[in-house]
Amino acid sequence: MKPVSKYFCLPLFILLVGCNTPNQTIHDSKLKACESVCVVRVDCHQTPELTSFAQRAQELANDLAPKITKLLGEKKFPHFKIVFKQNTAWGSDGLVPAYARGHTIYLSADWLSKYPDDFEMNLAHEMTHVIQGYSAKAPSCWTEGIATYVGFKLGYTNTLNCAECSASLPHYTSGYNCAGALLLYIEAAHGSALVRQLHTKLQQGLYSDSFFAEATGKSLEQLWTDFKQTPPFTSAAAHRLELEAWLKSPGKKSVAETMARMAEFLRTQPGGAFTADAQMFLIDLANKDCLPGFAGTGPAGLAFERDDLNAPVDFPISRIIHFLKKDDRFRYHYTVVKESPQSAWKLSKSWRTNPDGRILAIVQK
Ligand SMILES: [Zn+2]
Repeated sequence: MKPVSKYFCLPLFILLVGCNTPNQTIHDSKLKACESVCVVRVDCHQTPELTSFAQRAQELANDLAPKITKLLGEKKFPHFKIVFKQNTAWGSDGLVPAYARGHTIYLSADWLSKYPDDFEMNLAHEMTHVIQGYSAKAPSCWTEGIATYVGFKLGYTNTLNCAECSASLPHYTSGYNCAGALLLYIEAAHGSALVRQLHTKLQQGLYSDSFFAEATGKSLEQLWTDFKQTPPFTSAAAHRLELEAWLKSPGKKSVAETMARMAEFLRTQPGGAFTADAQMFLIDLANKDCLPGFAGTGPAGLAFERDDLNAPVDFPISRIIHFLKKDDRFRYHYTVVKESPQSAWKLSKSWRTNPDGRILAIVQK
């Protein structure tokens, strides 16, 4: 799915979102390509309340299959199965909207209840993974980039799903929308067969970055440089890459300096000034030894949910801030509220979760 893996983090070390699809898909040799009806089964026994979604899924999947097949230059779409689960967890990414494993697509009921409009987009994305069947060597940025590209070509774009690089997906190596936008750009500039050729190379396990030079006459890095001059490479993406370059530059950075640079970055994002203020309010609490969960120590890093980078600015404003602790795999979450422009931030709730998002303890309510 898209924006999809849920977290991206900007701790002292940068932890980027992973992929909600395995690099190595599991093939079921018993599944055969189909002529017309491609969904072999829709299983919603774990979520009987989603029967209407299940019916839609079957119809939609059969409508999408020939379109995706054509876009990628394939002959037939394989049989596959759709399973609705209450929630879908994917490795260290935690809860994700959906994922594909071999010829089975798993869709999250929890996600659908929150974001029903994402349904078609998620299904198209995961169906693309079903037909990809890429070699284990395929870079995940192209696996995800092509799945997102297919969504763009089928019209699944909206204000939250744009064909562009953003603060959360700033580089083509981030995959998803940024890689998808780069592919749209290259295709427009160098011919419509490019993505189909890339798809074939990835399936054959023959991909290397030289593919782009052979197909277009320009290296991948040159194409990326050209693309960065176009509107889909947003200023938000540029700010994020500048921050990453600073974090990776030689020289030891203090926690305070790093937090300040992150706050500076946040202030360049929509609604980010309030998010940065909320963050500094909590760090101030930590410095006074008053932040639940951080007795005697301060946060070692921050994690943002993607929505935090395009946050509302209407009062009362609330923000959820996610902190990381040194040598600690858990995440510490805080809801803070600012009732009006004049009022101070207040801590309203704090809780601790596993990396997969499951709540372990409510620290303060
Ligand atoms: Zn994916």
